[in-house]
Amino acid sequence: MDNDDVVRGDALGRRAFVGKAAAGAAALAAGTAGGACAGPGDGGPAVQTTRNVIWRLASSFPRGLDALYGSSERLAQKVETLTEGRFRIRPYAAGELVPALQVLDAAQQGTVQVGHSAGYYYTGKNEALAFETCVPFGLTSRQQSAWLYEGGGLDLMRQLYADFGVITFPAGNTGAQLGRWFKREIRGVPDLRGLKMRIPGMGGAVMDRLGVTVQVLGGSEIYAALERGAIDATEWVGPYDDEKLGFQNAARFYYYPGWWEPGPSMSFMVNRQAWDQLPSSYQEAFEVAAVYAMNGTQTIYDTKNPEALTRLVAGGTQLRRFPEDVMAASERATRELLEERAAADATYRRIYEAFREFRTNSYRWFETAEQEFARFAYDQPEWTAS
Ligand code: CA
Repeated sequence: MDNDDVVRGDALGRRAFVGKAAAGAAALAAGTAGGACAGPGDGGPAVQTTRNVIWRLASSFPRGLDALYGSSERLAQKVETLTEGRFRIRPYAAGELVPALQVLDAAQQGTVQVGHSAGYYYTGKNEALAFETCVPFGLTSRQQSAWLYEGGGLDLMRQLYADFGVITFPAGNTGAQLGRWFKREIRGVPDLRGLKMRIPGMGGAVMDRLGVTVQVLGGSEIYAALERGAIDATEWVGPYDDEKLGFQNAARFYYYPGWWEPGPSMSFMVNRQAWDQLPSSYQEAFEVAAVYAMNGTQTIYDTKNPEALTRLVAGGTQLRRFPEDVMAASERATRELLEERAAADATYRRIYEAFREFRTNSYRWFETAEQEFARFAYDQPEWTAS
C-alpha cells in the first residue's frame, strides 16, 4: 500500500512527486497499490484509495475576504471531509507563496498543484481568458454559471487552459459588482480622461479607450495606491469587500452599476499533471467540493452586501449612478473591442461567437421572466423601504 505517498508541490517536491507517481504506476501495474488512477472524464467508477495526498493552493486573494478567499478554504475543508482526511489542500493567500497575479504561472509550473484566481488577470497571455471570468456587458452570475457548466463555456475555456497545462473549475462568482470608487465626482466621459484607475481584464481595455490610464493590482495592494494618490480610482468587488479593504477612507464617490463585471466567475486552476495523478475518487471529491465552494461565494455576497452598503452610505459614501454617456460610451467601446479581437484571432472569434449566441438567448429569457418580476417587485415602496 502506498498510503504514505504524500505529494508536495514545491520545486524540489515536484521531482519527488513525479518519482512517486511513477512508482505508484508501477505498483498499480503489479496490482499491489492501494490507489488507482482513472483518467479524467473516462466515465469509469470512482475507485477507492488509501493514498494520502497533500496539495498546496495559491490564491490571488487576501485572506480576510471570506466570500472570495474563503472559497479556497471551503474547497479544502470539503475535499478533506469527502476523502476522510486522505486528500488535503493547504490554501495560501495572495503573496504568501506567489504574488497575486502570478497564480496561473505557479499552477502551470507545478509550484503549486492548484491556483485560485481569475482568468481575466491573465489576458496578457491570451485575451480570450477573459471569457472565463467575465467581459463587460456580458453575463450575470447565474448566466455565466449556466454558460460554463451547461452551455459549453467550460469546455471552450479548458481548451485554452490546455496551453498552460492546466484544467480549470469554476470557484465562485461575486454577482454584479457595485462599482467604482472615485476621489472626484464623475459627471460624464470627459471627467474620466487622464485618470489613473485600477481595473483588470477587458474592463480595463474599455477604460483605456475612454482615456483612462489603467493599472492591474492585486486586492491587497489597492488601498495604499489609492490612499497615496498613485491611482485616482479603483474597482474591486462590492460593498462587503470594499468596506473591508477600506476604500471608503480614501475615496468618497461610489459609482454603479459594475457594467464591466456583471457576473465574474473565479477559477480553481489545477496543474494538469497533478490532476491526472489523482485517484479518480479524489478527482470526484474535488469536483463536488469545487461546486460547494463556488456556491458559498455568491451566497455570502448576496447576504452581506446589503448591510455593508447601508453602513457605507451612513458613513458618508456618496452613492452615484454612472452617467448615461459613460454607460453608452463604455458599451460602444466594448462592442468595438470584442469585434476587433474576434477579427484578429480565430480562437477568440470561436469563443466570442459561442458566448454571444448564449448571451442573446439568455438576455431574452431573463428580460422576460426575471426582469419583469424585478421591475415590479423591487419598485414596491412597502417592500423596499427600511
Ligand atoms: Ca472587480
